[in-house]
Amino acid sequence: MQIEQKIKQTLGKIKLSKKERIIVALSGGKDSTVTAYFLKKLGYNIGGFHIDLGLGEYSDRCLKAVEDLCKQLEIKLNVYDFKKEMGSGMCYLRGAIQSKQSLKNCAICGVIKKWILNKEVRKLKADKIATGHNLDDEAQTFLINIFKGSPELSSNSGPISKNTMDKKFVPRIKPLFYVPEEEIRKYSKKKKLPVVYEKCPCALDSYRLQVRKFTEGLSDEKKMNIINNMDKMLANIQRNKDSSKDDSSKDDSGEPSGEPKVNYCELCGEPSRKEVCKMCQLMRIK
Ligand code: AMP
Ligand code: ZN
Repeated sequence: MQIEQKIKQTLGKIKLSKKERIIVALSGGKDSTVTAYFLKKLGYNIGGFHIDLGLGEYSDRCLKAVEDLCKQLEIKLNVYDFKKEMGSGMCYLRGAIQSKQSLKNCAICGVIKKWILNKEVRKLKADKIATGHNLDDEAQTFLINIFKGSPELSSNSGPISKNTMDKKFVPRIKPLFYVPEEEIRKYSKKKKLPVVYEKCPCALDSYRLQVRKFTEGLSDEKKMNIINNMDKMLANIQRNKDSSKDDSSKDDSGEPSGEPKVNYCELCGEPSRKEVCKMCQLMRIK
């Protein structure tokens, strides 16, 4: 199936409407660039949001790429200046956190980016956030969670986030969920899209790199099998959880709601499963 067909099918599955306002989280890399390109091509109402992480020349090249893309697609770009807003660049902040707690670079960066995205995109009154996560990313994350012994960590995974019911949570969609990374790379080159192909200089998560090497050797069909197995396993985990709950966990229809409960962080007020959100847990130890 062609890349466009795969994306259309995914957007159909998540019932994305052309009336919705979608903000694409643009990193400057190929995946989010191709995501924005197709959403625009297919007639969706999109804008861009870029977090300038303040990582020197690499960040300058990323900012230039997203500016060029938004000009080409004729969409509005919103830029979040990390240094200005947070008082230091991502590298410095991460170093401070890591001096107190041993956490991987990408894990810290991921938590901080998600927190910023939800908060800022909500202010823009968007209906959905679109990210560039692809089939390889999703298969790798699922395998990593299994190797950690916690497959349930993937329970919110899918082309659309599952905790969509909270008013402070902007649902996230992944239009490239079923598209292999190599196909995205080829397409972005064919269309000569403005893309920074080099990896983030801070992406030093050796564990993910090891899993990435493994998945790179797999056929696309095998990667799809991983994702399909994930769906089946997670459905079983959910069923077990539901059957161990009492009737109070069921919604008005009498069906188990299946929605993870969302609270608000007591420090920043953002949606969180725990009393203090992951972001505030990081910032407390910095
Ligand atoms: P990563 O975790 O870096 O692989 O990025 C996953 C997705 O998060 C990308 O495809 C983008 O949609 C989004 N993203 C990553 N970095 C940024 C950034 N600096 N600004 C905006 N969105 C980003
Ligand atoms: Zn918080």
